[in-house]
Amino acid sequence: MLVSRFRCPSKLRYTRQWGSKGRSLHVPAGAAAHHERGPRIAIVGSGPAGFYTAQKTFREIPGTVIDMYEQLPVPFGLVRYGVAPDHPEVKNVQDTFEELARSPNYTFIGNVKLGQDLPLTLLAKHYDAIVFAYGASKDRKIGLEGEDRPHIYSARAFAGDTAVVVGQGNVALDVARTLLASIEDLKKTDMTDYAIGALAESQIKHVHVVGRRGPLQAAFTIKEVRELLQLPDVNFDPIPADLFPPNTKALERPKRRIMELLQKGSPHKPDATKSWSLDFLLSPESLSFSSASSPPELDGVRFRKTVLSDPESPASGVTFANDYKTLSASTLFRSIGYAAEPIPGMASIGCNFLHGTIQHDGFGRAIPIGTEKQLSTSQTNASVYCAGWVKRGPTGVIASTMTDAFQTAEAIVDDWKRTVISHLPHRAGWQGVKADAMREGQKLDPVHWDQWHKIDAAEKHIGERHGKPREKLGSVTSMLEAARA
Ligand SMILES: Cc1cc2nc3c(=O)[nH]c(=O)nc-3n(C[C@H](O)[C@H](O)[C@H](O)COP(=O)(O)OP(=O)(O)OC[C@H]3O[C@@H](n4cnc5c(N)ncnc54)[C@H](O)[C@@H]3O)c2cc1C
Repeated sequence: MLVSRFRCPSKLRYTRQWGSKGRSLHVPAGAAAHHERGPRIAIVGSGPAGFYTAQKTFREIPGTVIDMYEQLPVPFGLVRYGVAPDHPEVKNVQDTFEELARSPNYTFIGNVKLGQDLPLTLLAKHYDAIVFAYGASKDRKIGLEGEDRPHIYSARAFAGDTAVVVGQGNVALDVARTLLASIEDLKKTDMTDYAIGALAESQIKHVHVVGRRGPLQAAFTIKEVRELLQLPDVNFDPIPADLFPPNTKALERPKRRIMELLQKGSPHKPDATKSWSLDFLLSPESLSFSSASSPPELDGVRFRKTVLSDPESPASGVTFANDYKTLSASTLFRSIGYAAEPIPGMASIGCNFLHGTIQHDGFGRAIPIGTEKQLSTSQTNASVYCAGWVKRGPTGVIASTMTDAFQTAEAIVDDWKRTVISHLPHRAGWQGVKADAMREGQKLDPVHWDQWHKIDAAEKHIGERHGKPREKLGSVTSMLEAARA
């Protein structure tokens, strides 16, 4: 099996095929191959994983040609849509990506959703390699009855005065900070006017950020906690002392510092109108709705209390107690993580999707399903790789996504160096995909980089009138209008 060869690359005597219609182009490792051209690569997804894979591959293999496919008319993935608006410094990575996109060997193909607008088999035919870097954008659900009713994580509906955020990661703290921040401060960010309008109407006075485990086990990091503690006019409810491990001094430095910060809390501000709390050892059990209103509105969340099985371990699990607690709440936000989904047709190009990620060899080479023989009977021939959240699961910041993408790029570079290019078929890339798509009656309406610049300019122009960096266009239709203007 191809698989086993990838697991232990240092021991390889012979290495893998690179786009071989199933025939393995076995080249003795280390043999100098004559490279007439660089690889032609399709990257699916234009978030950090896609761009960092492109960056390193461009750097390492002269003549690399990259076509980046993106389902939206705009690039940058969660850098644009996930990173909180009051963290503009994090979004600066976009400048690096803009620079890369200036390469004449780079083409952005936005507004094309792989698996829907375009079958993967077309990519497999026209590229030497495909890199899946399409993230994990599906919101994980808690699994409670009524979870999808209005007032539950709906950004439009901040009715009532108490919100519950389920989850204790950094994104949960981003949500709490946004709910508690002053509207004047948010107006200076790239948050849409639509969202600011909804927040301005909000009557929320208290935000509970609820987790199943204790302070030592929470996933948030110190910077995000500090930002919340430093919000002016917002109080923090002190955490009961018995929830902390007895000997915080013995903890490793990052955990110790965060425990100290949480124990210290923030000084009580007598004039504060808003407050927040971290509520530990609670697992959501059910929702209650007021029957006085039509449609019924959320009025509480019932939690089952939990007990840490190993209170001094940051990795401790929990068991359930026979005790419950109900928090009154008018709005519920879910922040328990994300999940990736397979793209239709992946299996047909030798890519195995299991438990929310693409199966790979530990370095980013997708592990094909079945044997080499089965692979050779398929109609595909590009080598398949993965990077970012769809490779390692939906955890980690942009920096860890970069490290991960660089690892995938290294795998691509290693494989290319060992390939006899003259044995490879011609690859037509985007031009070939476009021609085949037209022949097969697939309607494409791609947005290229110069058109993204038109969207970008339109957003900045509107933003300028409102005294903010940009006003993001809120629909694909309005983006396409700007792109075509
Ligand atoms: C709410 C939130 C806040 C965050 N805040 C921070 C922060 O402050 N600092 C930080 O360092 N990290 C932050 N992160 C983490 C960071 O965003 C991720 O580490 C990073 O974006 C993952 O990169 P990715 O390229 O794997 O996925 P993504 O950024 O999700 O990019 C994937 C891209 O693929 C596209 N795509 C999906 N399916 C298809 C398809 N079928 N065809 C074509 N294109 C497709 C998507 O539209 C998207 O553009 C945050 C994450 C979230 C969710």
